[in-house]
Amino acid sequence: MARILAVGIATLDIINSVTAYPAEDDEVRAVSQRLCRGGNATNSLTVLSQLGHQCHWAGVLADEPDARHIEADLQRHRINTAAVLRLKQGKVPTSYITHNLGNGSRTIVHHRGLPEYPFSQFQQIDLSQFDWLHFEGRNVAATRQMLAWAKQQAPDLPRSVEIEKQRDHIDTLFELADVLLFSRAFAQSQGHVDALSFLNTLQPQCGSTQLICAWGESGAWALNGQQALHSPAFPPPQLIDTLGAGDTFNAGIIDALIRGRGLGTALQSACRLAGQKCGYQGLEFLSLEKN
Ligand code: ADP
Repeated sequence: MARILAVGIATLDIINSVTAYPAEDDEVRAVSQRLCRGGNATNSLTVLSQLGHQCHWAGVLADEPDARHIEADLQRHRINTAAVLRLKQGKVPTSYITHNLGNGSRTIVHHRGLPEYPFSQFQQIDLSQFDWLHFEGRNVAATRQMLAWAKQQAPDLPRSVEIEKQRDHIDTLFELADVLLFSRAFAQSQGHVDALSFLNTLQPQCGSTQLICAWGESGAWALNGQQALHSPAFPPPQLIDTLGAGDTFNAGIIDALIRGRGLGTALQSACRLAGQKCGYQGLEFLSLEKN
C-alpha cells in the first residue's frame, strides 16, 4: 500500500437519457437520469484506491449542491480531501449530457466556474507523507511551479504527469516528470500516426524520463531510454464501456511502478487492468471482478 497524491479536477456529469433528441424550445421527459463523478486525476485515484492504495486528491471545490455529489463519491472511494481548496462561491465543472437512446448521440453542455488549483495551496501540503505524486497536464504555469517545488522539496518522490491534450507550453512540464503518460489524441495532435514514432521524437529531450503512450485497442508503447516496449490490449469477454480506460491505464502504470515492477511489466499489467475495466460500466470493476 502506498500513499498517493493526485492534483487535477473533479467534475460532475448529469446524464439524461431521452428516446429522441428534443427540438429547440421543446419540453421532454427523460427516461432515466444518472449522475457520475469524472475528472482524470480523480478517476485514476478511484482505481488506485480499489487496488489498496491510500489516495489523496488536491483540487478545488465550491460550496454548492453539485460539489456535494462529487465529495460523496470521493468519500465512498476513501479518497482523502484534506488538500482540497474549498471556495464559498463558484460552480464545479459540470457536464449536462443529453443521451439520445435512439441513436446513441451524446450532446453536452459544459459549465465551470472555478479557478484552477493554485501553486500557493500546493506549497502548504506536507509532501513527506506521500510515496507518489501524479498531475493532470493542465493549468501549465502553476503545474510547472508545483512540479519544480516538489522536485526541490522532495527529490526522491516520483512525479508522473498525464499529457492528454495539446495546451500552450505543455512541453515545459516534460523535463520535470519522472513518468510521462501520453494519450493517443496528444500524439496525433503532434502529427504522429503511431505511438513509437511519437515517443522517439521526445526521447532526446526527455533523457531518463519513462515515456508511455496508450493507443486504445492496439495496447500501449513505452520507451525506457533507447529501449522500446509494447503491450497488446486485453479485450474483455464483452466490450461494455471504454470511458475512463485511459485513467485506469494510468492507475495501472502507477500501481506497478510503485510495486517496483519494470516498465515492460507495468505496461502489461496496466493494459490488463484497462481491458478489465472495458468489460464493465464505470470504474468500480475491481470489486465486481472479485465476486
Ligand atoms: P482513453 O480512455 O484516454 O481514450 P485509450 O483509448 O488509449 O485511452 O485506452 C487506454 C488503454 O485502455 C489502452 O492502452 C488499452 O490497454 C485499454 N483499452 C482501450 N480500449 C480498449 C478495448 N476496446 N479493448 C481492450 N482494451 C482497451
